[in-house]
Amino acid sequence: MSAQQDEKKVSTILYIEDDPSSRRLVQRVLEGAGYRVLLASNGLDGIALAQRERPSLILMDINMPNFSGDMVATRMRITPGLEHTPIIAVTALTQPGYRERALIAGCDGYIPKPIDIDALPCQVEEYLGGRRDEVKSEEAGRYYTEYSQALVRRLETKIRELEEANRELRLLDKMKGDFITLTSHELRTPFTLVYGYSRLLQDAIEGATNTDTELVDLASSLISAVDRLGEVLNEILDLARIASGKISPALIPLELHRVVEQAIAKVRVVASDREVAIDLLGDDWPQVWADPIELQVAFGNILGNALKYTPDGGRVTISAARHGEYVEVAITDTGIGIDPDEQQFIFETFYTSGNTEFHTTSKTAFKGGGLGLGLAIAKRVIEAHKGRIWVESLGRDEDRCPGSTFHVLLSLDPRQADDGQAKT
Ligand code: ADP
Repeated sequence: MSAQQDEKKVSTILYIEDDPSSRRLVQRVLEGAGYRVLLASNGLDGIALAQRERPSLILMDINMPNFSGDMVATRMRITPGLEHTPIIAVTALTQPGYRERALIAGCDGYIPKPIDIDALPCQVEEYLGGRRDEVKSEEAGRYYTEYSQALVRRLETKIRELEEANRELRLLDKMKGDFITLTSHELRTPFTLVYGYSRLLQDAIEGATNTDTELVDLASSLISAVDRLGEVLNEILDLARIASGKISPALIPLELHRVVEQAIAKVRVVASDREVAIDLLGDDWPQVWADPIELQVAFGNILGNALKYTPDGGRVTISAARHGEYVEVAITDTGIGIDPDEQQFIFETFYTSGNTEFHTTSKTAFKGGGLGLGLAIAKRVIEAHKGRIWVESLGRDEDRCPGSTFHVLLSLDPRQADDGQAKT
């Protein structure tokens, strides 16, 4: 085998083409001539493949939908590592000017379709050997202007399409918000009746003489189901209220320690049933200006999760540290942890990790069911206080339980803090 053939063998040719039969044909011809051939069916995949594989030459169909070949060529010319890779336009567009347009866009040559399969290997070799086609200098200016105008027109069309899509999404988002608010309000009224009557029923059953124990058990199951329904409704109502932008915390001076203690009091029974210890550390808890009800909801949700995702017998530790005009509360659990790539999403509405089919229906059981609203609500409350919330965890592992720490940074006096000023 000659040295030239050896050289040819190691050359990689990337062919970007949306038509599968053309892809197969070119692949067969070039592989038969000893080249390594990579294929991409659209411009974006082609750019990614070219960046990864650094081919010796790129053959590019010009007439592709969405991201046309000339735009792909322009994009490649500003992609590090591809600035000088020969790009050869392959196209059936043979009217006058198409060759020039391809060259202006960044291509180095032009092969017309239908491809002459006998000539193709030689044409490729020529371009690999350094051949570069050029536009006549007296014509170049006109083609540059034409190409840049076409790009601007295309950009404008895309912007209009995106604006329209954005408008539709906003409308859908508003409809979704209105739907949630309306249905949760509508459900609230019958729920109040169900709640009241189920309590009356329970009292009547428990107060009756010779009560059947089965009836007592049924009544208590009914009450827990109704309580759970109430919690879900409250979460949805909280979210609808907060999402509608109506959260304007009524700031009063508070002992932060007390707020956290009250949130703990609400989960104390569940924690002791499940033998999860809750430690409230430190004696340097400051006073903060905050809305006691909102802040309790936020800490309640974080604490509720710490319990929910910690197996029986675990531990939740809550501590506070002062940083100048801020206080940082850390809630650490010995639970299943959260994967690093999930940590940015858990504060979004309706995000629940793990398979929701396996959630138990009880919110307080280990990995108990949730709607994915608790942290979204906590985040909005804390941000409405000009604070920040974030999480640290080594990852999710239900056997080793690496645990998670939720940090809440609060300004001692949000009336004095600027938006987004909270820093660690
Ligand atoms: P959910 O109602 O599903 O608990 P949240 O908004 O409260 O919704 O939490 C979102 C997701 O974040 C949960 O589904 C869970 O996967 C994860 N998560 C929250 N807190 C913890 C924690 N302390 N330990 C492990 N995972 C957690």
